[in-house]
Amino acid sequence: MTRPDDPIVAIATPPGRGGVGVVRVSGKSLAAMAQSLFGKQPAPRLATRTGFLDAHGATLDDGLALYFPAPNSYTGEDVLELQGHGGPVVMQMLLSRCVELGARVAEPGEFTRRAFLNDKLDLAQAESVADLIEAATDSAARCALRSLRGGFSDAIQALLRQLIELRMLVEATLDFPEEELDPLDRADAKGRHAKLLQAVETSLEKSRQGSLLRTGLHVVLAGQPNVGKSSLLNCLAGEELAIVTAIPGTTRDSVRQAVQIDGVPLNIVDTAGLRETRDEVERMGIARTWSEIEKADVVLLLVDARAGVTKRDMELVARLPPGAKRVFVHNKIDLAGARPRIQREAAATELYVSAKTGAGIDLLRAELLAVVGWQQGAENVFMARERHLVALRQAAYHVTQAGEQFDRPELFAEELRLAQAQLNNITGEFVADDLLGEIFSHFCIGK
Ligand code: GDP
Repeated sequence: MTRPDDPIVAIATPPGRGGVGVVRVSGKSLAAMAQSLFGKQPAPRLATRTGFLDAHGATLDDGLALYFPAPNSYTGEDVLELQGHGGPVVMQMLLSRCVELGARVAEPGEFTRRAFLNDKLDLAQAESVADLIEAATDSAARCALRSLRGGFSDAIQALLRQLIELRMLVEATLDFPEEELDPLDRADAKGRHAKLLQAVETSLEKSRQGSLLRTGLHVVLAGQPNVGKSSLLNCLAGEELAIVTAIPGTTRDSVRQAVQIDGVPLNIVDTAGLRETRDEVERMGIARTWSEIEKADVVLLLVDARAGVTKRDMELVARLPPGAKRVFVHNKIDLAGARPRIQREAAATELYVSAKTGAGIDLLRAELLAVVGWQQGAENVFMARERHLVALRQAAYHVTQAGEQFDRPELFAEELRLAQAQLNNITGEFVADDLLGEIFSHFCIGK
């Protein structure tokens, strides 16, 4: 695995203007660069007020310098942090000065990649750095931070310990086959195996649930014009987000809005009135709506409670992809004189609500979470990525397969070995360069 340690530099704060901007440098040995930048050696891990100097000793900016000598730094290398005035020109001048002194502009995620390569973080923790930065809700942020602090990795390590112990027991019996009649029985392999399988499945379920905090739930609001789609969206979001109007066909474009229920982010797409039209702009809106519908976990089909589900609604339903869960929402019950309620049928769930009065909206929120199987509180789950879910599913598969092989210890041991390799993938014990490249390329610059 390549392990470069040449100095890299990046602006760590977001583009734009702010009170403070941070330029960060990491590399093998930065004492000389610090001397040139500050005209002195800053004390390790103490904020030093200093001028940032150009090649002629003139001051480019005035701020705080931080120096973290290796290995006690984020990356495990020497790290310098220049906290200057947060303007784009100042930041660019400081960046250029560091480049002049031999640093190269960092690639996305390169600081965290080095932290991983220098064993400061395992791979699941490194990934949670990006997840924390990208968190869409409070719960998602807390969950990512727990992973960053090792919560998820610890759970995987505990599984690994359980698995390795069982593997060692079984492999030990393989070396002395003639000594025992039923070696696996004596080692309580069955009991241990059952516990291991249970533990892997629990972790998988917690990860599956937690992955919703990352990806969010994709919801499409579909329905004929004027049934109250924009009103319902506003109601769910709790503020005015889409233009509500009584003229059919005026919700022209898909309106993406991040809403949350119980900490689970919802990407709700309000559809343009899905109807035949000659208007070019409206047609484009409708085409986009269809592409969103293809991706949806749930389609909320809105109808006017007074009219019920009409032939046109059924035509619309027939065109929806069969994979998405369907919830029929009968809106405007205040006008229909109906009470809020939920009715679960095999084909679809029927809900009766009013986007205007808010009646039944709590039922709708609960149903949306139920549809994707969200049961846990957010504090109980792991904010897993698809990569982790795949590995956990594979591990569960191999542990299950092992259970079929109690009378053939070599095969039993082999399945456990395969399960172990899958779990090791999660924390990045043995990981290919291209996977690292893929993971870190999605990070922001400067992280
Ligand atoms: P869209 O075209 O489906 O997005 O429908 P809108 O959200 O623009 O709503 C159309 C009209 O119906 C607006 O005048 C809303 O105020 C009204 N409306 C929406 N939901 C309700 C409801 O639950 N009760 C009543 N009384 N009016 C509603």
